[in-house]
Amino acid sequence: MARRFRAAGHEIVVSAAMADLAVVNTCAVTNEAAADSRAKIRQIGRAGVNEIVATGCWATLQPGQAKDLPNVLRVVTNDRKDQLVPDLLNLPQESFELEPIAREPLPGLHRRTRAFIKVQDGCDNHCTFCVTTIARGEGRSRPVADVILDIESALQGGTKEIVLTGVHLGSWGQEFDEHLRDLINVILRETDVPRLRLSSLEPWDLDADFFSLWDSSSSLRAGSRLMPHLHLPLQSGCESTLRRMARKTTPQTFRDLVAAARQAIPDVAITTDIIAGFPGETDEEFAESLAFVRELNFAGGHIFTYSPRPGTGAARMKGQVRPELRKERNHILHAALEESAKAYRQKFVSRTMSVLWESTSEMGEWGWRMEGLTGNYLRVNAFAASPRWNEIDRVKIDEYDNGRMSGVIANTG
Ligand code: SF4
Repeated sequence: MARRFRAAGHEIVVSAAMADLAVVNTCAVTNEAAADSRAKIRQIGRAGVNEIVATGCWATLQPGQAKDLPNVLRVVTNDRKDQLVPDLLNLPQESFELEPIAREPLPGLHRRTRAFIKVQDGCDNHCTFCVTTIARGEGRSRPVADVILDIESALQGGTKEIVLTGVHLGSWGQEFDEHLRDLINVILRETDVPRLRLSSLEPWDLDADFFSLWDSSSSLRAGSRLMPHLHLPLQSGCESTLRRMARKTTPQTFRDLVAAARQAIPDVAITTDIIAGFPGETDEEFAESLAFVRELNFAGGHIFTYSPRPGTGAARMKGQVRPELRKERNHILHAALEESAKAYRQKFVSRTMSVLWESTSEMGEWGWRMEGLTGNYLRVNAFAASPRWNEIDRVKIDEYDNGRMSGVIANTG
């Protein structure tokens, strides 16, 4: 959207106080996310933006409520989101499709060096806690040529890392009998992307063969360009809870998949999402889930406290867990994940890793303090004589302390 606004002659500004118009992309994945979306709209209105456009999942599910918020002029539901900019500016969609428009980083202190490219939307699964399928509709994949065009424009704008995203990314290509692995191969073959990262992948979309994509002996240098990071949402480590969630996986298949990934991809970071306090989760089920989470030694992840989303099967289930107990279970799972994440990070002290610098701040006589991410998603700090934002450096990690990793730039390139 930013790219399209820019192409039509508008400027993207750093704060709401400087804006004439704001587009708020709302979320509905949890009650909290929906409340945050409303708070963001109100906050932007208070900052003086008179024209707010609300789009995204919460605005799609609750268009009336969204429209009633102060200064919201228009609600754009998900089915029109791709046309939001041309619709708003009254320009034909084709005027944006004539040539790739270079992506530039958004202004501000937290400028992103990564470009998130959506290759798929919607989902055909029916996980019983999930409101996304209701908000986003059926799964559909973007054609390879469109994705390549988007990636090329991001690379022209200086992006060093492309992140492929989708509501159900692993289903990419199912309409045209292709698999995500085909798309990844084309991207590695046809573009010079230095770093390619995959966002969340449902475990049932992958098999052991998928991990051969990371084969470092391949002519595409896939082993060094495809980041060794897999985010595989588990949601629960208990078989019966997974069944109530209508997830197409079991602890055993998940365990086998993770073992295959670790075997094929050196140093791979496997992160996950887990829901605490799903309806009907007994003490025994929770204990089973926790033991599984501990066993899997994840490199990190998110714990979501279950919140019933209107219109979902889980919201109607009997045996809703008390909110305090959901929170308590969240804390316990969080501590377990933190412990394994710590152990994972510690393994990299005294190793030399490639880091893409995402932020820089001047520190007087110390030079510049840089912060960035390794391929396996470790956040690293280092000092440099001059700002190296959006550069990739080799960094020798020399310390892991209090959740922070720091190192010394060893050489560039
Ligand atoms: S696969 Fe993901 S998006 Fe699809 S229903 Fe399940 S949780 Fe929701």
